[in-house]
Amino acid sequence: MQTWTAIHQRMWIGGQWVDSESGETVTVVNPANGEVVGDVPKGGRNETAQAVDAAHRAFPAWSGLTAAERGAYLKKWAEEIRRNRESLARLLTMEQGKPLSEALEEVDAAADFSEWYGEEAKRVAGEALPGSKRDQRILVIRQPVGVAALITPWNYPATMVTRKMAAALAAGCTVVLKPASQTPLTAAALMQLLDQTGLPSGVANLVTGNAGEIGQALLDDPKVRKISFTGSTEVGKHLIEASARQVKRLSLELGGNAPLIVFADADVDRAVTAAVGNKFENCGQMCNGINVIYVHERLLDDFLQKLVDRVKRLKVGFGWEPGTEIGPVIDEAGIRKIDDLVRDAVEKGAKILTGGERLSEGPFAGGTFYAPTVLSGVTFDMRITQEEIFGPVAPVVSFSGEEEIVKRVNDTPYGLAAYFFTKDIRRAFTVAEGLEFGMVAVNGTSLSVPQAPFGGIKESGQGREGGRYGMEEFLNLKYLSINL
Ligand code: ADP
Repeated sequence: MQTWTAIHQRMWIGGQWVDSESGETVTVVNPANGEVVGDVPKGGRNETAQAVDAAHRAFPAWSGLTAAERGAYLKKWAEEIRRNRESLARLLTMEQGKPLSEALEEVDAAADFSEWYGEEAKRVAGEALPGSKRDQRILVIRQPVGVAALITPWNYPATMVTRKMAAALAAGCTVVLKPASQTPLTAAALMQLLDQTGLPSGVANLVTGNAGEIGQALLDDPKVRKISFTGSTEVGKHLIEASARQVKRLSLELGGNAPLIVFADADVDRAVTAAVGNKFENCGQMCNGINVIYVHERLLDDFLQKLVDRVKRLKVGFGWEPGTEIGPVIDEAGIRKIDDLVRDAVEKGAKILTGGERLSEGPFAGGTFYAPTVLSGVTFDMRITQEEIFGPVAPVVSFSGEEEIVKRVNDTPYGLAAYFFTKDIRRAFTVAEGLEFGMVAVNGTSLSVPQAPFGGIKESGQGREGGRYGMEEFLNLKYLSINL
C-alpha cells in the first residue's frame, strides 16, 4: 500500500507530472495543528492553457472509444481507490481535518461514484421520433460537450472530484481539474491512481495554484465548453457572469441554508440522532448540512435536553486519533465567521446551552477548533438563521404552525436541501412538495448517493450531480433530421 508521502505533489498535464513554470509552490497546512502537510505547484494562466490544450487533443480519441471501454477505466479507478483507501483517508484527514472514520467513508463513497459512472457509461442512449413527413426520419443523439473544467471545494476533497470527473469521463468528455487550495493533495493522489489505470495521456489533467488566475484562463479559453463548479455562491455568481461571453455550459453547486423541521408528531429520539449525525458531520462543513433546527414548541424541552446531552459527549480532537468525532474547522476565516454568527445571536438574546467558543488550550493550541455548540432561543432576526454557518453550531428555533414554518424556511435565497421529521403521511407529502429546495429528506438526513440527483435551486445553484442526471450535464443533444 502506498503511503500518503509517496503521492506526487505536482500537476498532471498531458500525462506528465510537472511543476509550475515559476517553480513557486502553495503550502498545504494541517488545520488540526498548523503543521505543513506538503505543497503543490503554484500554477497559473500558462499551465492552465497547457492542460486545456492537452485535454482538447485527447478528446477525439477518448470520445471515440466505446462506452464500455471508457467505463472500464472508471471501474479500475474505483478499484485503485479502494485498494488505497487507508492511505487516501489518512492523507485526507491530514489536509482537511475530518475524523479518519469519516475520511474512510468519504473515500469509499468516492470509489462508489467512479464505479457507478463506469457502469452508467453504457446506458447513454438517444431516441428515434416519428417524422413529420413520410420520408423524414428523426433521431436525437447525445454527444459529449468537449473539454470540461471541474472546480472542487475543500470540504469533501475526494467525493467532489470523482462525482464530477467520473460523470464527465463516462460521458466522453476530457477534463481539467482545479481542486481547492486547502486540499489539493487528495486530488493529486486520486489523479495518480487514475494514471495507474493506464488512462490515455491528456484525458484528465490537474492544475493547482492561483484560483483566480486559473479560473480566468478556463473562462477565457473557447476550447473549454463546460464548467462544473462546487463552492461559494459568490464565486458561482462570478462564473455565471464571466461565462456569458462564450455561453459556456455551467453546473453549479453553491451555498445552502438547510432547515431541519421537527414536527409535533415526530419521533424525538430519531430526530435528535439524525440532527447530531448531519449537523456535526465534517465539523458542520457540509453544503447540504443542517443550518438551523426548527422544533415544535411541544417537543422543545425534550428535544433540547436530548440534543445537549449528545452534543456534550462529542469527542473533539485530532482526526487521526481513534474515537475523534469532531475535527478542526478548515481555517481561521471559517472560525471567524462562526464566532461572528454566534456572537450576533447571543447579543440578540440566544442562550448558549453548550460550547459557544473557540478551543485553543492544550492540544488545541495550534489548530482551528470550535466547541460543538447548541443555541436556544434563536429568532429570525439573528444572522445565524439567514447565513450559512459552516461549523459545529446547532441553533434551535421553536415554532407552532405547519404552514407558518414552511413559509419561514422557504424565505431564503438558498434552496439546496431540507429535512423534516413527521409520522403523518399527509404532512410528509404536502410539506415535501411545499419546501422550495432541490432535495428533501423525510425522517432521515442522508442524501448524496451515486444514483440520485444532488443539487439545488435559487441561489444554491443549477444543474445536478449524480445519477443519469449528472451525466446529462456533460452531454449535448443533437437532433438529426434524415430525409430519404
Ligand atoms: P469556499 O468558501 O468553499 O472556499 P470558494 O468558492 O472560494 O469556496 O472555493 C471553491 C473552489 O473555487 C476552490 O477550488 C477555489 O480555489 C475555487 N475558486 C476560488 N475563486 C475562484 C475564481 N475566481 N474562479 C474560479 N475558481 C475559483
